[in-house]
Amino acid sequence: MSTLVLGAGISGLLAAWHLHRRGESVEVWEAESQIGGWMQTLPWPTLDGREGRMERGPQGLLVAPGSATDLLFKELGLSLNSPGKGARWVGKGQGLISVPAHPMGLAFTPLMSIRTKLRMALEPFQPVRPAEPEESLYDFIARRAGKGMADELLAPMVAGILAAPPKVLSVDAIPKLRQWEAFGSLFNGVRKSGISHLMVPEGGMGSLPKRLAEQLPQVRTGLRATGLEPCASGWRVKAQGESREVAQVILGLPAFEAAALLAPVAPASALALESIPYTSVKLWHSRHAPLAPFKDGFGFLIDPEFGRPYLGTLVPSWIDPGSAPSDLMQLRSFIGDSALWEDPEPDTPKDWLWTARHLRRWLPELGEAFQTHEEISPNAIPRPVVGHRTWVREALEGLPKGLDWISNARFGVGARDVIEGVPEALD
Ligand SMILES: Cc1cc2nc3c(=O)[nH]c(=O)nc-3n(C[C@H](O)[C@H](O)[C@H](O)COP(=O)(O)OP(=O)(O)OC[C@H]3O[C@@H](n4cnc5c(N)ncnc54)[C@H](O)[C@@H]3O)c2cc1C
Repeated sequence: MSTLVLGAGISGLLAAWHLHRRGESVEVWEAESQIGGWMQTLPWPTLDGREGRMERGPQGLLVAPGSATDLLFKELGLSLNSPGKGARWVGKGQGLISVPAHPMGLAFTPLMSIRTKLRMALEPFQPVRPAEPEESLYDFIARRAGKGMADELLAPMVAGILAAPPKVLSVDAIPKLRQWEAFGSLFNGVRKSGISHLMVPEGGMGSLPKRLAEQLPQVRTGLRATGLEPCASGWRVKAQGESREVAQVILGLPAFEAAALLAPVAPASALALESIPYTSVKLWHSRHAPLAPFKDGFGFLIDPEFGRPYLGTLVPSWIDPGSAPSDLMQLRSFIGDSALWEDPEPDTPKDWLWTARHLRRWLPELGEAFQTHEEISPNAIPRPVVGHRTWVREALEGLPKGLDWISNARFGVGARDVIEGVPEALD
C-alpha cells in the first residue's frame, strides 16, 4: 500500500519507519526546511567559537531496560548515554530542597509533611478505579497518593513536564499513570514496568529523527500539505506546486494543523481536533561559570506558588556534556504561559533580566551569563484537559478509510508515549 506521511516530527517519522520496515511504500512531506519538529538539536557555539548545542524540545528520554524506547535505539544502532544519578531539587519556600534519589529517602525529605508521607505509604492499598469517567490529573493523584501529595509535590513535577497546572489536566496527560494503576497500584506498576533512567542519544535528541530519516527512502522538506481530497486510488494531497495520489495518508501533525486539513473531508474529526488546546512556552538558554553542586545535577523545578510562571531550570551541560565545554555551565530555564498560571506580573516582559532575577532567587551565587539565547515556542505542547479522551476518540472515529492521525496529542505528551504508541496505532 502507498502511504504519504505528513510531518517529519518524531510521530510522522516513526510511523513512516515502521511502515517501511513492513515493506510498504512510504514518502514523508515536512513543511519546514528541517526534519524533527520539536525534537531538534541546534548548534550553539561558544562566544570563542568552540562547539556546543541546545535542544528545541526534549532534553532527554526516560528509558527502562527492555522497553520499546530501549529496543528502538538498539534497532537503529544509536547509542544512548546516561548522565548518571545527579541531584535534582524542588524550589519551595525559602530555597531549593533536594529530591531523594531513592524512594526510601522520601521518608526523611522535608519536601512533604509527615501526614502526606503516611498517606503516600497507603497508596498500594487503594482500590483500582475504572477508567471512566475521565479524572483530572490532580484528582487521580489525590485519590491514589493523597491530597497532600497532590497539593505539595504534584504541581512542580507536572509544571516541569507539561507546563500546565494539574487541576486542568486530564490523567491521560501522563498515560503511564493509568497503565501503572492497572497493576493494582502505582507502586506495583513502577516496580513491574522497570525503573527508567534519563538517557540522551549520542549527538543530542535530534539524532533520533535524523537516524529514522536516513533509513527512509523519501523524506522531503519544505513541502507544506495544503489540501486533501478523495480520488479513485484513495487520497490526493496537495502542496504548493505538488500533488500526490496515494492509498493512505497519515497526518503526523499537531491537532490544530490536522484539523485544518481534515475540515473539508472529515468535519467531525476536525471539530474534535480543534478542541484540543496547546500550551506555549518560552525558554532561555544561558551559559555561566560552573556553580557547585548545582553543575552536577539535573536542575530544579519550582513550586508554582513561589515563582510562576517561571517553571524551573535544567542543566543541559550535565545532562548532555556535548552541550558546552566543561569550563561552562549551560542552563535552560522554562517560562510558562502567563494565562495558565495566575501570573503576579502579567505585564512584565519575560526577558533575560526577569529570568535572571528568578534564577538568582534560587541560586544567589550564580555568576553573570556569558551568553544567552531566547526561544519562543508557540503552541508547543498539547494540553490534554479533562475531555481529551473523548476528543481523541471522536477524532479517530470520524476519519474516513485511508486517513489516520498520529501525534503526541494522541498518545500522551512525551516522546516516550509516542515511541510506544505509534506501532500499536499502526497495527
Ligand atoms: C520545549 C519542549 C520540551 C519538551 N520536553 C520533553 C521532554 O523532556 N521529554 C519528552 O518526552 N518530551 C518532551 N517534549 C515533547 C516532545 O518534544 C514531543 O512529544 C514530540 O517532539 C512531538 O512530536 P510530533 O511529531 O508529535 O510533533 P511535532 O514535533 O510538532 O512535529 C510535527 C511536524 O509536522 C510539520 N507540519 C505541520 N504542518 C504541516 C503540514 N501541513 N504539512 C507538512 N508538515 C507539517 C511540522 O513542521 C513538524 O515538523 C517537549 C516539547 C517541547 C516543545
